Amino acid sequence: MPGTVNPIVPLSLLEAVRTLDIPEGDDVEVEYVQEHRNKRLGLSDTVIAQIRRYKEALKRNQQIAIDEATGIARLIGRRPDAEGIFTRAGTIVANRMYQMISATRRQIIHLLPGFLARPLAFRQLKKAGNKYLGASVRRVGSSIVVGIKESVTFSTGPKGIGCLYYESALREMLRLLVNGGGMIDHVHCRERGEDICEWRAEWRAVKTSQ
Ligand SMILES: [Zn+2]
Repeated sequence: MPGTVNPIVPLSLLEAVRTLDIPEGDDVEVEYVQEHRNKRLGLSDTVIAQIRRYKEALKRNQQIAIDEATGIARLIGRRPDAEGIFTRAGTIVANRMYQMISATRRQIIHLLPGFLARPLAFRQLKKAGNKYLGASVRRVGSSIVVGIKESVTFSTGPKGIGCLYYESALREMLRLLVNGGGMIDHVHCRERGEDICEWRAEWRAVKTSQ
């Protein structure tokens, strides 16, 4: 659907804000946490309500207006810790996408030797990327190329940090699916006036057990 995104996108952005706004450490007083929370953008009741709404939309398979997601990204982009939030949100969205692959499929991918697992993993990456992020995923030689035309995060923060969201999602998906951890290059970018944000990743499976 044009002009819309899967609820998983705004959900992951808000969840990243939430996890980073909760102070670390067990000795933090509950009252302090409450007070601290209310001061930050992240933990207002509105945000919690929004998270609930996106989870509900995800269950019902309802799309969300892209402007809504971009609005959240813009709020994040203004924060001094924006880089960390976009990166964290990418990790969160990848984990959610991975959890939505059937458990049997995930198991098969991890049990098969690399040369058999990779085509299966690629198919899952392509399917999930397309469905949840509106990404085009293709193989070029030994690389994987992921393109996002309708980016919700581009130019929402300084120095192209919004693009870290998709880059981090790709990195985490490759780690989860094939234990991959190669270089990822942002080869085309809408922030440079191009019509697509595109990443090229090394597509190699580092199988520790074989
Ligand atoms: Zn970009």
